[in-house]
Amino acid sequence: MPTRSALFSQRSLILALLMLLACGFLATSLLSYFASRSAIRDGIINTELPLTSDTVYSEIQKDLIRPVLIASMMAQDTFLRDWVLAGEQDTQRITRFLGEVMGKQDTFTSFFVSDRSLTYYQAKGVLKHVEPDNWRDAWYFRLRERKVPYEINVDLDMANQDSLTVFINHRVLDYQQRFIGATGVGLSVDAVVKLIDTYQRRYQRSVFFTDAKGKVLLTGSDGGPRGLRVGQPLHDNPELDALLVQQPVPTQGSHEYKDSKGHSHFLNVRHLPELDWYLLVDKRETGALDRIRHSLYLNLAICAMITLVVLSLLHGMLRRHQASIEALATLDSLTGLPNRRSFDLLAVQALHEAQRDCPPLVALLIDLDHFKALNDTHGHLAGDEVLRQFANVLQSSLRQSDILCRWGGEEFIVLLRETEGRQAIDVAEKIRRRTEHLTFSYDEQPLRLTTSIGLSGLQPDDTLHALLTRADRALYRAKQSGRNRVCSETPGFAYE
Ligand code: GH3
Ligand code: MG
Ligand code: MG
Repeated sequence: MPTRSALFSQRSLILALLMLLACGFLATSLLSYFASRSAIRDGIINTELPLTSDTVYSEIQKDLIRPVLIASMMAQDTFLRDWVLAGEQDTQRITRFLGEVMGKQDTFTSFFVSDRSLTYYQAKGVLKHVEPDNWRDAWYFRLRERKVPYEINVDLDMANQDSLTVFINHRVLDYQQRFIGATGVGLSVDAVVKLIDTYQRRYQRSVFFTDAKGKVLLTGSDGGPRGLRVGQPLHDNPELDALLVQQPVPTQGSHEYKDSKGHSHFLNVRHLPELDWYLLVDKRETGALDRIRHSLYLNLAICAMITLVVLSLLHGMLRRHQASIEALATLDSLTGLPNRRSFDLLAVQALHEAQRDCPPLVALLIDLDHFKALNDTHGHLAGDEVLRQFANVLQSSLRQSDILCRWGGEEFIVLLRETEGRQAIDVAEKIRRRTEHLTFSYDEQPLRLTTSIGLSGLQPDDTLHALLTRADRALYRAKQSGRNRVCSETPGFAYE
């Protein structure tokens, strides 16, 4: 049985290994998780979002900035101004002019609104008259009052089935810098919206434009962040409260914030000086890090499995090792018989049973005769082989219940359980005779041997020591009286 301290040290070894493996695996898994996490975050902040911003910016430049130049050219066109100042004669001339701009510059629509007649001209002719009370015309009256040269409006185009259109409305001034009307072009922002949709749907990021106060001016067809629509201010979305506390108006640069649900976001803000708009690209961290988080869990599961397998293998190995150490400690390595240590345990048990239930018990002390001479003549290896063969002779001469041990050197001890004096003498004689008649062999050499046996029966109140001392004395007598014989030292066994 393993001792308490062996068990304790085994347990602490396994525990130490468990801690070591767990700490090692945890440290490497977490280190690689945090390294990939920071690489992904860097990638999002420094590459992904700025790239998206660049692409959307170049698209909007193509779609909006060129038309701003066109509108500015139209507003400064001397023909247009002269025609207005001359009293708007011959509508065909202005419609031709507008048609030319539309065709050449490939815009969606082009227009002029005269301040004198409030007529809205476009390439196809007169569309209508603008009215201060009509919400659709509010842009015109607003522009009239403003001091900026132009305004960009994302609006529904009445002339084009109310499709989402961006109008560049430019003030037209006469040669004395007096306001005489508004001109400009309208264009579809389908291309920008499609691009925004691609980014929003495929790459899970929000892309939207705001003015300097944070009002959404343009975004994808599904709306901006959390469904914000064109025209809505950012604070209409309560999820963005934390962002707005951090920066109440859009500020150029890279930002990080947590929304009201606790999700981390990366935000790239870029100012478009040509339009005085802000382009915002927002990405939620969770989606981006899901993959590496899953691989962290997988990693940890694999590490836990490896730790368990290693520990159970180690546990098995330790148990087998322990068992073999225990076997080595109780068995004699040359003959495989129990050694003196285990004899002490077996004998105490046998003596206890014999004294309790009174069955007879006899001890035999067996010593090979002139064994030293055999070693000297044939060598130690021959002696070892003879000891092994003699152990077999002893084993085959006894019952399972008898106790047989190698006492030391060429001496063996036997305890015969439940055996009367006469029977014991017969067993001892059988061993002596079989040894005498057996031809032992080593390296194909025949070797002959004899053995002397001292015999003693257990007396009431005997100790193991007293029993063995008598057996030893009997053996001594057997040696003294010429060897190859059995002597007894128990009162009542008259055998010599
Ligand atoms: P006796 O008849 O008086 O018993 O003579 P003996 O030579 O057998 O007795 P002695 O006690 O003088 O010698 C015992 C020898 O047994 C001496 C020792 O070298 C040898 N011996 C003890 N253990 C072993 C062993 O494991 N292998 C071998 N080969 N020899 C052993
Ligand atoms: Mg001896
Ligand atoms: Mg001897």
